[in-house]
Amino acid sequence: MEFACACGATHFQTDGEPLFRILCHCSICQRYNSAPFADVLVFRAEDVSMPPPGAVEFETYKPPPNVKRGKCAKCAQPAIEVFIVPVFPKLVMVPTPMLSIEAELPAPKAHIFYDKRVSDAQDDYPKHRGFLKSQLAFMSYLRSAKR
Ligand SMILES: [Zn+2]
Ligand SMILES: [Zn+2]
Repeated sequence: MEFACACGATHFQTDGEPLFRILCHCSICQRYNSAPFADVLVFRAEDVSMPPPGAVEFETYKPPPNVKRGKCAKCAQPAIEVFIVPVFPKLVMVPTPMLSIEAELPAPKAHIFYDKRVSDAQDDYPKHRGFLKSQLAFMSYLRSAKR
């Protein structure tokens, strides 16, 4: 899949399909995306060709989990997030606005951290509330997506 920010300075591609897509309502995602929730695709880090050096400015918001979140250094669009969490495989998450062809998007698995939502979602996707339940749901989607 091909990804690019609005200004084009940050661009990268992935080898193959995402493991899954998820909607996260946690406060860090809200702040990072300047949006009510994050809509992201989850990839294995090894499947992602990272953006050119210097294109992205990474920031680490407070743990847990240990996530480096990068925005385009030029246009500040949320571009790529790197998960380095013990025991987990290394993951990369990409906000769906980085994808230009929307038809490629799979349906989201669920909402997580739904207790932190700004407004109710008008859909039938599962809704997981709280840190533990949200983490467990994420792990189960990861496990069932394993190739
Ligand atoms: Zn940009
Ligand atoms: Zn989140």
